[in-house]
Amino acid sequence: MDFTLSREQQDIIKAAREFAQGEFPDRALEFDREEKFDLDIWRKACELGFVGVFIDEEYGGAGYGFLEHCLIVEEFWAVDPGIAMAIGSTTFGSEILGLFGTEEQKRLLLPRLVEGEAIMGTAITEPDAGCDVTCANTTAVRDGDEWVINGSKMFATNGNLANFLLVFCMTDPDNPSRHDRYSFILVPTDTPGYSSSKIRGKLGIRASDTAEISFTDVRVPLSNLVGEEGKGFKELMAFFNRTRLHICAQAVGLARAALEESIRHTKGREQFGAPIASFQVTQFKIAEMATHIRAARNLYYEAAWSVDNGKIDHALIAMAKWYSAEMAIRCADEALQMHGGYGYIDEYKVQRLYRDAKILEIYEGTKEMEKTIISRSILK
Ligand SMILES: Cc1cc2nc3c(=O)[nH]c(=O)nc-3n(C[C@H](O)[C@H](O)[C@H](O)COP(=O)(O)OP(=O)(O)OC[C@H]3O[C@@H](n4cnc5c(N)ncnc54)[C@H](O)[C@@H]3O)c2cc1C
Repeated sequence: MDFTLSREQQDIIKAAREFAQGEFPDRALEFDREEKFDLDIWRKACELGFVGVFIDEEYGGAGYGFLEHCLIVEEFWAVDPGIAMAIGSTTFGSEILGLFGTEEQKRLLLPRLVEGEAIMGTAITEPDAGCDVTCANTTAVRDGDEWVINGSKMFATNGNLANFLLVFCMTDPDNPSRHDRYSFILVPTDTPGYSSSKIRGKLGIRASDTAEISFTDVRVPLSNLVGEEGKGFKELMAFFNRTRLHICAQAVGLARAALEESIRHTKGREQFGAPIASFQVTQFKIAEMATHIRAARNLYYEAAWSVDNGKIDHALIAMAKWYSAEMAIRCADEALQMHGGYGYIDEYKVQRLYRDAKILEIYEGTKEMEKTIISRSILK
C-alpha cells in the first residue's frame, strides 16, 4: 500500500493553492455579504485548467480522475468555501453527460464548460421531492419531435446563471416501478417558458447561486434526452457516487481552514498571561481537529481511488460523505469557540466557515440518507 501522491498530483495541489490564495481572500467577505460572485474568477480558473479536470481529454478536459478533481476542490475550499463552490459547481451535471450522454452531446457541451464559455447545473429537488426524488412531479411529455416540460424545481445551484440545466423529469408516470418513471432532459435556459428566481438569505456558501425554477410548456427536441429513457433514477445514483466525493473534499478543505485559523488565533491571543494555545484544552482541540481531518481525507482518497479504478462502493462513498461533513461542522464549531466573541463576527473567517459548513450535511444526500445507505449495506 502506497499513500504517497504522485509528483503530478502534488503539483496540482500547489497550483490550486496558489491560485485560490491569490484570488479569493480579498473578495470573500464582500461576496458573502452581498450574495454575489464575479464570473471573471471562474473564467480565470478555467483558463488555468482547474475546472472539469475529470472530463475526458477528447472533450476538452484534462482526463484526470476524481481524485485529482478532489485535490483541487480541497485546496479551493481551504481558502474560501463560497467562492470555491461558485467555481466548482459550474460543471455540476457534466458527470451525467460524461457517463450517459451521446457523443454529440458530449462534443457540443463539455468543452464549453472547461473553456469557461458555459455554466451548467442539475435540477432534481422539487418543493415536494427532496430526499425522496421519486416524488418529483415535473413532467416531460412527447409532442411530435419535442419534449414539453412542466413543473418546478427547488434549490437548483446555478439556476440563474447556467446556460443549460439537466432536469430530472417524469417521462413515464404510469410505470408501476417508481424508479423507472424518470429521465434526464437537457434544457437550455433561454428556452421560452423557463424562469428562475434567486433564493436569497442562505446560511452559507452565499457566493454560490441558488434558484427556484419553473417550467411552463418548455419545448426542447427529443434528442435532448440524456441517457436512457426511464433510467434517470439509476443514472442519478451513479451521478451521486461521483458528486458525493466533491462534498468530501469540500469538507476536508473547510476543516483545514478552520484548523489553520485556530492555530493562528490561539498562538497570537493571550489570556491569563499566556497564549491560549499554551492551555491543554486548546492543544487537545487542535490535536482532535488535525486527526479528524486526516481520517476524513484518507476515507475520501480511498473512495475516490475506488471510483477512478472502477470499483464503486456505495457504502464507502456514503461513509466518506457523512463522516467528512460531520467532521467539518465539528471543526468549524471548535474553531469559532477558540476565537471567542471575535469568531461571532463575519470579518473573521471562522464565522463564515461555521455557516458554510452546514450545507455539507444537506446537499448531495443528507446525513440521514448516507447512514441509511451504510446501514443497508451492512444489515442486508
Ligand atoms: C444551497 C443548496 C444547494 C442545492 N443545490 C441543489 C442542486 O443543484 N440541485 C438539486 O436538485 N438540489 C439541490 N439542493 C437540494 C438538496 O439536495 C436538498 O435540500 C436535499 O436533498 C434535502 O431535501 P429537502 O431539502 O427537501 O429535505 P427533506 O427531504 O424534506 O428532508 C428533511 C429532513 O428529513 C430527513 N429525512 C427525510 N426522509 C428521511 C428518511 N426516510 N429517514 C430519515 N430521515 C429522513 C432528511 O434527512 C432531513 O434531515 C440544494 C440545496 C441547498 C440548500
